Amino acid sequence: MIKNTRTTPARPVDMEALFPELTPYRREAVRLHPRPGSPAPTDSSVGGPLLWPAGEAWPVCAEEHYEPESADLHEEAAPMLPIVQVYRADAPGLPFPEGTDLLQVVWCPYGHGEYCYPLPKVYWRDSAAVGEVCPTPQPAPDLSGYWYPDPCVVHPETVTEYPSWDMPRELSDVLRPRIEEMEERTGLYYHHHLADAPGIKLGGWPGWTQDPAWPDCEGCGGRMEHLLTVASWEVDGESWRTWLPEEDRAPDGGRPDWKVSESAGLCLGDAGGVYVFECRTCPDRPVGHWFDCS
Ligand SMILES: [Zn+2]
Ligand SMILES: [Zn+2]
Repeated sequence: MIKNTRTTPARPVDMEALFPELTPYRREAVRLHPRPGSPAPTDSSVGGPLLWPAGEAWPVCAEEHYEPESADLHEEAAPMLPIVQVYRADAPGLPFPEGTDLLQVVWCPYGHGEYCYPLPKVYWRDSAAVGEVCPTPQPAPDLSGYWYPDPCVVHPETVTEYPSWDMPRELSDVLRPRIEEMEERTGLYYHHHLADAPGIKLGGWPGWTQDPAWPDCEGCGGRMEHLLTVASWEVDGESWRTWLPEEDRAPDGGRPDWKVSESAGLCLGDAGGVYVFECRTCPDRPVGHWFDCS
């Protein structure tokens, strides 16, 4: 039987009873749980074909860019590749701009800038206005497959998160002794098992691999909001204990088939991530991004 939902187990610890100070920092994220498949343009997907209007040119990156994880210049402009497409119905908590019901994120899968990161772009659409659909381009055959996701169907699930790297210093000073006591008692680590969800997700707290790097909006100067984390892996050797969906567990509830962790086929900077941000105050919703490696 095909299981078409994914369910993160309830946390084994009542976080807000133990740490009521975390309550104001609670956020909701939508875990996408990508799994290899053949999504249609009318489906939410990771790495799948986009519902892209035939009358609108497919986005092409003409910036200076390098072969992934290499110092070799990639001379040609490159068609951007589909990363995430999500219909509003699949991400109920996400504030879609008025009149839109479809989020599309693409990126150029070559290296840009000092840290050699893929370059994302964000589109919001009204799916009913699309009409005839433009075929989604295929990646260049010699391109590293680690830098863009394989076509995956998704199983969106809303989960509650608390800040990990983003916990304010003052709060972390207050909670530290109690967190350590809980960690000793339960064998769980706040950062790996109880804070924010690993994997590809919308909203919530960014799934940083390294120190937080929130971009500011060039328009209004305010700190941008987290829109999307594209992490290399859904779970790792620690986080699977609490974040691996029930449907993907071994019959004894144990450790997964490793393929589940790497279901989208990504490996960004040795299991790092790409983080996409937006300003919801400026009318044109400017976008910012960051990239890190493990
Ligand atoms: Zn590029
Ligand atoms: Zn702004």
